[in-house]
Amino acid sequence: MNDALRMFEILPQFAAVLWKAWPKDMEAARLGQPNENRFSLSGTCPHCSRASAFLMVTGAHAEEVFERASCIGYTSWAVLQCQACKKFILGATFGPNGDANACRYVEHYPLGRPNDEAPLEIPENIRVDFQEALRCRFVDAHNATVEMCRRAVQASCNYFNAPSGKLVHQIDWLAAQGIITTPLKDMAHRVRLGGNLGAHPPEDPDDQNIITIGSRYADAVIEFTRDFFQHVFVMPERLKKFTFR
Ligand SMILES: [Zn+2]
Repeated sequence: MNDALRMFEILPQFAAVLWKAWPKDMEAARLGQPNENRFSLSGTCPHCSRASAFLMVTGAHAEEVFERASCIGYTSWAVLQCQACKKFILGATFGPNGDANACRYVEHYPLGRPNDEAPLEIPENIRVDFQEALRCRFVDAHNATVEMCRRAVQASCNYFNAPSGKLVHQIDWLAAQGIITTPLKDMAHRVRLGGNLGAHPPEDPDDQNIITIGSRYADAVIEFTRDFFQHVFVMPERLKKFTFR
């Protein structure tokens, strides 16, 4: 088993919340009489991030939905207003034929903004790299995500004055100096390996053992990077603030 495979041998289930507003948490309800085609949505607002209700401020535009040449229902689009911040979204619901009261949420725009918040204790030049990784993840740019995480970890090595050279040796150097512990060293190496996978195309694209960096791996690398920063930057700064002396 090579390093890259070993890296993801045990992959925890990450439930990373990468969005300020998770885009699929809306619920739809039909309003008024069935023939009015009015509906409301409720869920997290992509503008103000609050749990809110969205009411129609325009009439609905309905389009028939076909399956195997027969109409199975219609999708309705309307502009809706957040009752918390009064900003607008475009929402769509589906109403099946034969059930005038049924109304199912389909999608809405905007989806929300990427949550690229990172602790201020992380030095700025490193933090911006990590924030870029989070924004890459928001648009499912998984290879770019892990590459930016790797870059942020390498910037951390430079911050601690690791001798310039390959990242693998820089990480080992930090551990040898006692700057990072063994678990942190392992974590940094995983980010490095993930970044390498994202940065380099496989020599043999038909190799069955190739790891493709998808959402799970990208989320894992983000969490490893976040944990690494938590230990090397965030915790030391917080300890300085609260000495209890
Ligand atoms: Zn709102």
